[in-house]
This record gives sequence, structure tokens and C-alpha cells, in this order.
Amino acid sequence: MRHLYIHVPFCVRRCSYCDFSIAVRKRVPANEYVAAVVRELESLAPGPEPLETVYLGGGTPSLLPPEAIHALLRERLALFCVPTSAFPVEITLEANPEDVTPANAQAWRAAGVNRISLGAQSFDDRVLRWMHRSHDALRIGAAVRVLRDARIDNISLDLIFALPAELNRDWDVDLDRVLSLLPSHVSLYGLTVEERTPLARWISRGAVRPTDDERYAEEYLVAHERLTAEGYHFYEASNAARDARRSRHNSAYWSGRPYVGVGPAAHSFDGRTRRWNRSAWEAYRRAIAEGRSPVESAEVLTDEQRELERAYLALRTSEGLPLAAVDRLRPPLAAWETAGWVVVRDGRVTCTPEGWLRLDALVATLTGRRAIA
Ligand code: SF4
Repeated sequence: MRHLYIHVPFCVRRCSYCDFSIAVRKRVPANEYVAAVVRELESLAPGPEPLETVYLGGGTPSLLPPEAIHALLRERLALFCVPTSAFPVEITLEANPEDVTPANAQAWRAAGVNRISLGAQSFDDRVLRWMHRSHDALRIGAAVRVLRDARIDNISLDLIFALPAELNRDWDVDLDRVLSLLPSHVSLYGLTVEERTPLARWISRGAVRPTDDERYAEEYLVAHERLTAEGYHFYEASNAARDARRSRHNSAYWSGRPYVGVGPAAHSFDGRTRRWNRSAWEAYRRAIAEGRSPVESAEVLTDEQRELERAYLALRTSEGLPLAAVDRLRPPLAAWETAGWVVVRDGRVTCTPEGWLRLDALVATLTGRRAIA
């Protein structure tokens, strides 16, 4: 177990576009939650190797009281974490700006958190209200300052693009605001319309229109260009870092390394088998309390599925796909190069930003070719 994901399912309300498996709670049942996750952790045999990364994602992990985060990281995970100064454990906490107070930030730091992924999404208060976010734009800059004061300077900001045209969101202004805060990392999320969300209902009654592909591509390419010009490196299609501060945890996913997930809806992968936990908090809690496995299901990947998955993940990253794999998968490489979707350099195929925009279609071509072969 080198990479551990801990899913914290609680949110104070549901954002207008979100279909994640969350539990909306005014008061987070922190003690019950920690007890359940610790029981699940105890049922997993720790490997001989120390943890390299821990990621508390959600949901809204920053809603957990700092004592609960401390209990999880310092008291329980200490069993697995053997950090060395040469290669310290990366411990990321996803936080919403309104939860970043000086006291919380200090407590997170004391618990070992050294990276924060901050759900900024936009710097336009009107847009934030439309998204049903609980923070306003001023809170984002304030949160970044508070985190730096607490000696957490590895900060990632999440931004959503491709919002409906009716909102008149100024994407350039949002990018200006992000760049002015000099985060070490930026994650971009293109808005997608998921069933059973407020956004899907607004669209079905004609209140807003979904964003067209052209604007989606335009905003992505503008962000890519502007962030790159400011020294950020897109090491993955939607993730850019400066000063080599990539997310080591997410990089493990993209390089196909095994990981363990605990908590409701968490996924685990051992290199061949993927399993996932019950997604509803109550079902997860009950299974653990009754001494049953929280695992809902699992799938064993065939060799072919693993090869295609590795290709897909590799093409998402700036490292790209080795030509040896390309020989087996037989993509129409010359056509992709001519179209400007990939470049072939140093024995590897990497996507251009235009290629990343159509990554699913490129990989579908690979899948189709395997089916014919
Ligand atoms: S804070 Fe995140 S997980 Fe919670 S409702 Fe909003 S988008 Fe979903």
C-alpha cells in the first residue's frame, strides 16, 4: 500500500452540477466516520513498503473537525507512514475555501497535511451562487494567504470551465485571478451535465443551454496557453504544475500504479483487480458496523483491457505512450500527427492540447482496432 485514498462523503449542500456520492449533512458524524474508516484500514494488511501519498478527497474533507483529521493521520496512519526527509509522504486534503481558517490550517499542518486542493471553481460571485457553492470570491484569496501563513504552500486550485453561455462568465478574468495567486498547481474541470442534478433540470426546462464543443475547446485551449506562458507545465490533460509540484498521488493513478481506497465509494486497484466500496454513507457505515465487507463489487481486467487502460492513461500524461506499445495497438499515427493531435518524439507519442481535447475519440479508435484485430 503506497498510495492511499480516503473518501470523506460529507457536504453541507449539493452543488448544482454535482452527481457525486455525497451525504449532505449540517453536522458531520465525525466520530462514527473515523471509527468506520479505521476499522476498514485495520482490515487491510499493510505491505512492507511505507506510504508515499495519502489523499483525503470527497465530498468535503475540510468539513471534518481537525481533531478527526489528526486522529486519522497521526494516530492511525502512523502505522503505515514511515516518512523520510528525502522522500516525505505527500498528504493532500481537499478543502473548500470557507473552511480554511487560521485554526484549521494550523491543525491540518500539525496533522501532517502538506498539500491542499482548494475548490475555487470561479472568482465571480454570481457564478459561484449559480453553482450553489458556499464561498464567495474573496474567500479564495483569503484561504490561500491563510494556508501559506500556516506553512502549507503546496496549493492546488480547481477551476471549472465551459459554463453555460447565459452566465456570461469571463474566463479570462478568472484565469487572471488564479495566476495572481501563484498556486503551485491548477486543475481544470470542463462542466459536464450529469443526470439528476439541478443543472440537468435547468437544461431540460430550457433555463440554460449546455455549452457547445466549440466554446469548451476554446476555453480549454486559452487556459492551456495562458498557464503554459506563466511557467505551468501540463503534466496531464487537465492538470498543470509549476516548480515540478505535480500531484504525486494522482500521478500514481495515471501511471497505473496500485492504490488502496477506503471510505464510502472509494475504489482500489492492485494492478489487475479493481474493487469499489458501497457508495452511500449509511450502507457503508452499516456494513462496517456489522462486521461485513464494505466492498460492493470488483472487476478483474483482462490483459487487453489493461493494455488499453494503460494506453489511455499514458496518453493523458505529458510522458505519453512508448512507441513499443504503439506498435501493438496500431493507431493511425500518421493521420493523428498530420491533424496536429499528437507528436512523436524520443520514442514516445504524446498528445498536443488539441489531442487532449479529443482523447476519448483517439482511444476509441485504438479500441476499435483491437476489436478488428
Ligand atoms: S463540494 Fe464538491 S462533492 Fe460537495 S456537492 Fe459540491 S462539487 Fe459535489
